[in-house]
Amino acid sequence: MRLAAHIKIKDRHILNLAKLVSGPRSILYKKTDLAAYDCDGFTIEKYLPRAVVFPQNTEEVAAVVKYCSENDLPFLARGAGTGLSGGAIPINGEVIISLTRMKRLLNVDLENRMAVVEPGFVNLKLTHAISDQEYYYAPDPSSQYCCTIGGNVAENAGGAHCLKYGVTTNHILGLEVVLPNGDVIEIGKKGIPDAPGYDLLGLLTGSEGTLGIVTKITVRILKNPESKQTVLAYFDRVEDGSQAVSDIISAGIVPAALEMMDKIAIEGVEAAAFPVGHPRDIEALLLIEVDGIHAGIEEQINQILEVCRNRNVREVRAAKNEGERERWWANRKTGFGAMGAISHDYLVQDGVIPRSKLPEVLSKINEISQESGLRIANIFHAGDGNLHPLVLFDSRVPGETEKAIEAGSACLKVCADAGGTITGEHGVGIEKKEEMRFVFTDEEIMAQTAIRKVFNHDNLLNAGKLFPTPGKCAEIKQELTKA
Ligand SMILES: Cc1cc2nc3c(=O)[nH]c(=O)nc-3n(C[C@H](O)[C@H](O)[C@H](O)COP(=O)(O)OP(=O)(O)OC[C@H]3O[C@@H](n4cnc5c(N)ncnc54)[C@H](O)[C@@H]3O)c2cc1C
Repeated sequence: MRLAAHIKIKDRHILNLAKLVSGPRSILYKKTDLAAYDCDGFTIEKYLPRAVVFPQNTEEVAAVVKYCSENDLPFLARGAGTGLSGGAIPINGEVIISLTRMKRLLNVDLENRMAVVEPGFVNLKLTHAISDQEYYYAPDPSSQYCCTIGGNVAENAGGAHCLKYGVTTNHILGLEVVLPNGDVIEIGKKGIPDAPGYDLLGLLTGSEGTLGIVTKITVRILKNPESKQTVLAYFDRVEDGSQAVSDIISAGIVPAALEMMDKIAIEGVEAAAFPVGHPRDIEALLLIEVDGIHAGIEEQINQILEVCRNRNVREVRAAKNEGERERWWANRKTGFGAMGAISHDYLVQDGVIPRSKLPEVLSKINEISQESGLRIANIFHAGDGNLHPLVLFDSRVPGETEKAIEAGSACLKVCADAGGTITGEHGVGIEKKEEMRFVFTDEEIMAQTAIRKVFNHDNLLNAGKLFPTPGKCAEIKQELTKA
């Protein structure tokens, strides 16, 4: 982009970067414009980027990356900015490389069940583009109507239906990546993921934008299941709902999705855009979906109804029709945003636990809520033990933000102590980097930072994310050497 001659810009890097990206308004550099990029879905910390560039193709991404690398400028990639752990926040005043103009569906190959997309392609648009042929893209984060597949790869995003179908990494067949020095590499060529050598696809997927910038993605697409049905169950006790979850899995059923919401979460979704009339006085609800060949569905539904009845369910039934099924899902998928209807602010957490520990962990989260004086809602993928405690707070009240952060961290500690971990799908970002110590030893953290260094030698790409502060690691290393 050529900047008009009369515009006076003191920063020569802005002028140089502008020359590397084509099209109108392909660089933002004024404070007022940059303010829209000072955070992502994690709104607690905000920093202004140096500039935001909007490349249109891989060559432009590579040119910008090379320029940043040669001029010692920190930089990072950004998709839709829906990340919940602060991965796209420019904590070092980075140049943000926005991938939102690289949003083409490049190829659909039904015969080989693959599609190729640019990183800024929005998740749900892929299913929309292939649904006529009865195909779909399985990973379905609740943000799928706006988050990008590039962002999904970086975060290894999950979703309600990942219980049966797996998370993003299980659906990635190939990547084109711009390395932090500007070189472009292809991984998993021709859709054959299990290539000789190290599993770079696995390494890059979920690396939170710290190893390279993904510029092209080959994904697996699936044929629509012949049939699907959803059951809704209301419980007066959280323990009964949690036991029903275990009983369903122990019965040998693998639901496509098995979601749970507690009383506060229900209050939120019923106050938000898609209420469906859930009773306000129940303690928990389960949304259970099964899919597959038509013949087996009815039997599975009957088994699920029986399991719920054996666990003192107040009311349980299958959706009457597709419209009702969709309304139930729309209500569930608004879950996080719905907290805005009942609280000024909320902090989403993302712990994982062994499913059998559900009642115990939920009761400890309740204790954290009582101790902190903050309400904590729970909306989660119960089938795979991926909890989302939502800490409700009001940032206008002095001290409440800090209390919320502490309560969120305490929830993660409970998950880690129960044999689980600190993130299932939202990533570590800046939010949980100190909590990495709940699940990794110093040696394990150092092994991982060593891998980052191989790719991201000068640490200019998305520095300060994912691992505890380098200073602390260096101190640990010294201690270890002394010992
Ligand atoms: C209401 C709501 C509901 C959500 N529900 C879910 C859910 O059910 N499951 C789930 O997993 N997540 C969920 N999320 C979190 C979020 O949507 C996902 O993490 C998503 O994958 C982020 O995509 P994005 O395009 O917004 O990425 P961004 O937020 O822009 O970036 C996220 C990270 O990816 C990196 N990145 C982005 N693009 C690239 C690229 N092309 N190459 C390399 N790195 C890149 C960034 O540097 C950053 O570190 C939810 C978020 C919201 C707001």
